[in-house]
Amino acid sequence: MKTIVVLGGGYAGLRAARQIASAKTHQRIILINKNTYHYEATQLHQVAAGTLEPSDITFDIKSVAPKGVEVIIDEVQRIDRDQHQVLLSQQEPVSYDYLVNALGFESETFGIEGAQENSLPLVDINTAVAARQHLEQTLARYQTSKDEQDLSIVVCGAGFTSIEYLGELVYRMPKLAKQYKFPLEKVKISCIEAADSILPMFERGLADWATNYLRKKGVEFHTSTPITSIRPGQVVSNDQVFSGHTVIWTTGVRGSEVISASGYPAKRNRVVVQEDLTVEGHPEEFLIGDVSAVPDPQSGRLYPTTAQISIAQANCAAANIAARLAGQPSQKFTFKSVGTVCSLGPFSGVAQIEIMGQMKLKGLAVGVVKQFTNYRTVLELADCKAMLASR
Ligand SMILES: Cc1cc2nc3c(=O)[nH]c(=O)nc-3n(C[C@H](O)[C@H](O)[C@H](O)COP(=O)(O)OP(=O)(O)OC[C@H]3O[C@@H](n4cnc5c(N)ncnc54)[C@H](O)[C@@H]3O)c2cc1C
Repeated sequence: MKTIVVLGGGYAGLRAARQIASAKTHQRIILINKNTYHYEATQLHQVAAGTLEPSDITFDIKSVAPKGVEVIIDEVQRIDRDQHQVLLSQQEPVSYDYLVNALGFESETFGIEGAQENSLPLVDINTAVAARQHLEQTLARYQTSKDEQDLSIVVCGAGFTSIEYLGELVYRMPKLAKQYKFPLEKVKISCIEAADSILPMFERGLADWATNYLRKKGVEFHTSTPITSIRPGQVVSNDQVFSGHTVIWTTGVRGSEVISASGYPAKRNRVVVQEDLTVEGHPEEFLIGDVSAVPDPQSGRLYPTTAQISIAQANCAAANIAARLAGQPSQKFTFKSVGTVCSLGPFSGVAQIEIMGQMKLKGLAVGVVKQFTNYRTVLELADCKAMLASR
C-alpha cells in the first residue's frame, strides 16, 4: 500500500483528497492542514468588511474530509524532498510515496518598506477578522476622538480582492455609521493602484462600469500611483501621501513560505510545474493551486491564481496519481475558464462568462451568479451533506 500525502485543506487540497479517495485505489491517504477548519478564501473580503461571519465560510475539516482520508492538524514546516518526508511543527515527520502540495497563498509585499508592519492583509480567517476588528474599532473611536483620520480608509491595490472588498465596504458603511454614530458624509475611502486601470482581468467596459459604480458610492481611485512605502497611517507614493487610520493591503499574493523553506526552484514561491503537474526531477511530487505556476499554452503567460484553476488542477493530479498506480500514462493539464465574476457587494458586480461564447454581465444579476458560484465551489470540495452537517 502506498501513502499519498496531501498538504493544505484549501480548494486544491480538499478537492484532490476527495478525488483520490473516490478513485478507490485503496491506498493510505493523509490530508495535513494547519487549521481545524477549511475556509472559503474567495469570501474572505466579506468577513473583513463584516458582511459575513467567519462561521459562514468555515467548515470543520475532519467532518468534510472525504471518507477514508486521515486528517492531521499541524503546520507544515518543510518538505525533505530527498527523504520523502513532511516535517511538521508539533508531530513526527510524515513519509510519503506521492505528495500533493497545495499549501496555497500568502500576502506579497513586493519588498515595499513598511507594508508588512503598517497595513492589514486579507489572506486567511485570522487576517480577515483582524481587519474587521481594526476597521470597526477605528470607526467607533471617531465618536470620542473627532479625528477624521479615523474615518479614512486606504485600500492598496485595485485587483480582484481590492475591488470585491471595496464593494462590501461601501455596502456596509451606512449600517456601520448608524451603529457607531459617525457622519457617513465624512467617510473617505481611497484606492491606490500602480497600473493605469482597475481589474486588469476584465475587459475595459466592465472595469469602467465597476469603477463608476464604486465612485458613485464615494470611493476615490488613484491609478498610475505606485506605492513606495507605508508609514503608520500613511500610504506614500513618491511625493504623494494618502492618510488614513485603516490601511488594507490587497496588492497581490505569493505562494506558501514552505516552498522556499523546502528548496524548490520558484519565483514568489510559485513553482513552474510540468504538463502533468509534477515537479521536474520529482515524478512523485504534484504541485497544485496557488503554489504552482502553469503556463497558458495560448498566451504563453502564467495562468492567474484562482480557485477555479486550483480545482481543475486537483482533478488532474488525482487522475494522474491513479494512472501512475495503475501503470498507465499521465494526462496533461488543460484548462478552460468558465469565466470571472467580481462582486460589488452582495447585490451587484461585473462578470465575463465563457460558456457558449462570451457573455458580459453587470449589476444585480451578477450578485445571483456569484452566490451560485460560491455554492457550486463548496459542493465541489466535499459532499453536500457533510458540508451542511459541519455547520
Ligand atoms: C478575497 C479573495 C477573493 C477571491 N475571489 C476569487 C474568485 O471569485 N474566484 C476565484 O477563482 N478565485 C478567487 N480568489 C483566489 C482564490 O481564493 C485562490 O486562488 C485559492 O484560494 C487558491 O486555492 P489553494 O487551495 O491553492 O490555496 P488556499 O485556498 O490558500 O488553501 C491553502 C490551505 O493550506 C493551509 N495551509 C497553509 N499553509 C500551511 C502549512 N504550513 N501547514 C499546513 N496547512 C497550511 C491553509 O490553512 C489553507 O487551508 C480570491 C482570493 C481572495 C483572497
